[in-house]
Amino acid sequence: MARVIAIANQKGGVGKTTTAVNLASCLAAAEQRTLIIDCDPQANTTSSLGFSKDPARRTLYQALVLNEPIERIAIDAKIDGLDIIPSDKNLVGAAVELVSMDNREFRLKAIIRPILDKYSFVIIDCPPSLDLLTLNALAAADSILIPIQCEYLAIEGVSELLDTHMRIRRTINPELEIEGVLLTMYDDRTTLSKQVAADLRSFFGNQIFETVIPRNVRLAEAPSHGMPVIFYDIGSRGAESYMQLAKEVIANAQKRLGTGPERPDPGAGTAAPAASAAAAGAGDVGSSSSGGPSPGPEPGLE
Ligand code: ATP
Ligand code: MG
Repeated sequence: MARVIAIANQKGGVGKTTTAVNLASCLAAAEQRTLIIDCDPQANTTSSLGFSKDPARRTLYQALVLNEPIERIAIDAKIDGLDIIPSDKNLVGAAVELVSMDNREFRLKAIIRPILDKYSFVIIDCPPSLDLLTLNALAAADSILIPIQCEYLAIEGVSELLDTHMRIRRTINPELEIEGVLLTMYDDRTTLSKQVAADLRSFFGNQIFETVIPRNVRLAEAPSHGMPVIFYDIGSRGAESYMQLAKEVIANAQKRLGTGPERPDPGAGTAAPAASAAAAGAGDVGSSSSGGPSPGPEPGLE
């Protein structure tokens, strides 16, 4: 059964799509059958994987709103081991049309259920808002992966994000875990990036992925060539970092299933203070922390 990971952050331009496309491709390259779902009407994931605009192509809209069978909508992403459920601008309409439908938050969860057995991972790229499309993604997901850009005020949006996660757990998806918080666009030449990364690490503790995504021009260029960075420039730091992230995600999934090699929990020593800092800053956020990047004992949680 696939592990379903929603890439979400209400803030725009933090690297959600870049992460969705490159993590999904690296998972596929690591021989994990993967489905990527473009849940954003901007359709950046769809175009980043080389699908140009085509009004004849079926998209998530047909499945969500018109009940077309998902098997007819998920297509080969032209990368070994990777399929895609594409998007286009019509999906804007879905956000509106869903409002009057039954089980409106749970439609994506229901439509992907029949194909989950085909994949090891399902990666969902969310729009930068908390609309019905994002709610559908979060209801369908086992976990949320939160990219945060290493920039001034990054920490400001954090408690809002964690609030949202808590609300989702109270309402539509009590099981939703935090897959991890991912630092993106990190620039090791600037003190600001270093400071922001240090602040976020002390706030989130072992919920932060060890992998940090550097600011790398190859990552920004690859989408205009319609390919993930591992095909555009395999030797780039961007490619290296997303391969590393995929390894972490796979290792965590294996750990959860109890099939992976035992490895020391690098965050164990810092979990308690970080967790209490998070709890102090954002209510009962700790209750949502199961299954983070370094799942281990987290005293004081739950
Ligand atoms: P939106 O909220 O609009 O969906 P997003 O969160 O999906 O945005 P992206 O589209 O992934 O963000 O990234 C925003 C811009 O930053 C893009 O032009 C992308 O190519 C660039 N970018 C993302 N990550 C990196 C990186 N690590 N290094 C350099 N550029 C990057
Ligand atoms: Mg995006």
